[in-house]
Amino acid sequence: MITHDLGVIADLADDVVVMYAGATMEKSGQSAMFYAHHHPYTEGLLESLPSCGDERERLRPIKGQPPSLINLPAGCPYHPRCPYVMDICRTDDPPLRAVPGDGPHVSACWLPTDRAAREAARVELATRTLAGRTL
Ligand code: SF4
Repeated sequence: MITHDLGVIADLADDVVVMYAGATMEKSGQSAMFYAHHHPYTEGLLESLPSCGDERERLRPIKGQPPSLINLPAGCPYHPRCPYVMDICRTDDPPLRAVPGDGPHVSACWLPTDRAAREAARVELATRTLAGRTL
């Protein structure tokens, strides 16, 4: 099935592949994708959705536009839009790496695969990005 409807995925899928710029960004079981995702693009997709009890006045779309498939950026294809971008992201395309957890899970991102270290890095990098500094 190919779809952008995450509600359909939540209802029907056992395994989920998140693609961006023609490549796999993350692949895992359905539960891990919704509750223990690793990739910032997956995070952005989920944060852009409305949910029950949501008190936000506006949805949070992913900033920027998808890249041209005939002129992809160097490094990670998501880096121009990523709130956690690091220097390595601008030069080196991350391979799919195993993310520890329940069941098979891989992600193409340079953030740590360990959940606690990843969350700490996300907070630090997002804070620096909001402050207008780049790494
Ligand atoms: S590799 Fe870097 S730019 Fe790409 S998704 Fe991960 S943190 Fe963001």
